[in-house]
Amino acid sequence: MGDNVNKNDGGEYEEFCMMCRRPESLAGKMLHLPGNIHVCSHCMDSMTKLIDENYGDILNGAMTNPSAFMRITPMNQTVDPSAVDGTADDGIVKGAGVTDLAATEVEDPESPTETPDQEAAPQDTVKKAIPRFSFINLADMSGDFGFPGRAKVKKRSKGERKPLLALEDIPAPHKIKAMLDEYVVGQEHAKKVMSVAVYNHYKRVATGTTDNIEIEKSNMLMIGPTGCGKTYLVKTLARLLDVPLAITDATSLTEAGYIGDDIESVVSKLLTAAGNDVDKAEQGIIFIDEIDKIAKKKETHSRDVSGESVQQGMLKLLEGADIEVPIGASSKNAMVPTTTINTSNILFICGGAFPGLEEIIEDRINKQTSIGFNAELKGKFNKDKNILSKVTTEDIRKYGMIPEFVGRLPMIYTLEGLDKDMLVQILKEPKNAILKQYQKLLELDEVKLCFDEDALETIAEKAMERETGARALRSIIDEFMLDIMYEIPKDDNIGCVTITKAYIEGKGAPLIELRA
Ligand code: ADP
Repeated sequence: MGDNVNKNDGGEYEEFCMMCRRPESLAGKMLHLPGNIHVCSHCMDSMTKLIDENYGDILNGAMTNPSAFMRITPMNQTVDPSAVDGTADDGIVKGAGVTDLAATEVEDPESPTETPDQEAAPQDTVKKAIPRFSFINLADMSGDFGFPGRAKVKKRSKGERKPLLALEDIPAPHKIKAMLDEYVVGQEHAKKVMSVAVYNHYKRVATGTTDNIEIEKSNMLMIGPTGCGKTYLVKTLARLLDVPLAITDATSLTEAGYIGDDIESVVSKLLTAAGNDVDKAEQGIIFIDEIDKIAKKKETHSRDVSGESVQQGMLKLLEGADIEVPIGASSKNAMVPTTTINTSNILFICGGAFPGLEEIIEDRINKQTSIGFNAELKGKFNKDKNILSKVTTEDIRKYGMIPEFVGRLPMIYTLEGLDKDMLVQILKEPKNAILKQYQKLLELDEVKLCFDEDALETIAEKAMERETGARALRSIIDEFMLDIMYEIPKDDNIGCVTITKAYIEGKGAPLIELRA
């Protein structure tokens, strides 16, 4: 039974018992039922024992006289329980595909379409003999509605786990940085710190803990204004190293039991990103954005379920522990299967804008410099553009992060806000720069697209006004490129289009040159 189902799975994925939701690795061999449903032998034993103890006699009777006993309610036909036996509610919902043995029997088998009313008389006799007992049509479960039996998780490899990146395959820090340089403009310090941290992390994963010197985890905390490339850096890094990456938002997390996502859901996202391969997921990267939003709430009298409690809950995740995670869901519940993932080799990168952190740093520096012989004028640092880079763990604690949490993120670094020149560079320099993308699109129509330097500067100025970092560039360019992308393919004679400053400012048209 169900052999074909197993063949489809290729034997690589774990099966889950539909009764106890344990994976095959814990529950042992599974019995396979139609509709890709699996039951472990322990649950199957208990189920048969239960049926045998309670209904054994009746079922034995049914076996000797099945025609008098069984009549299957047609699928999709609802049987009204009150009409059948006068009991309005027996706690069993009989809908599509539910076969009610109690509502059957001692009927003339030749008239199966009789209405329930007609059955009323013989029903009484039957009721005495047979308890209410319903079967669920298992074939109906084959639809894709998150039934536990359908969850697939790739089996753990036996013995020693193969590292995703072998020691000799890990690129040296300068190579990692060079790869990042191709995509990310500026942020030199951040790129350097990340390259070293990632290099060390994967060295640690590759060598394992066989040595008596255990290398500590290099989890990171990135601080930088919105749109300066935090997420982009992590995404690029994961893509270049070809490791699974999960990006989540700390704002959606709450303490278990409250509305919102459980903390473990961040790991379950990584499992999904790794194609439900536990071995791969255990060596991936998790990026938690908006981490400043889980800072301790000040002056709160109620339980801080989305702030301090989330930080507390994340401690063991960051440190490295066996975590029971729901598969393909954001919180654990009775219908969701779970699996165990060890987080000691998962690299956690937290990022946040930390608005208001500048004032905390300023306060600290001003306090230090206005005391003693070396006292400087108060307020000297008020106008410092790079004040954020002077951040210390003490400042982050003051901001509302608990010491245990900050302690588990040993690499703390900042990203600079993007200025006009950097925005212009972002427009044209990265490997997949927005301008290059548009140029490529028009190239397919054999049209050359050029941009005047002052046009690019105007775009950068407009983007700065929006205060959303480089994120604004795309929307500005998309706005004014719409007409060009619409009009150009109309005319085959156009050979070159130049975007001018006047066009960006809405005071003129782009320069169009016809083919020679
Ligand atoms: P945040 O810092 O808020 O996470 P993102 O990383 O999501 O910002 O940046 C938004 C977009 O801006 C990215 O998809 C990327 O295209 C662009 N971008 C931001 N910073 C840079 C940068 N330094 N170099 C190149 N592109 C960047």
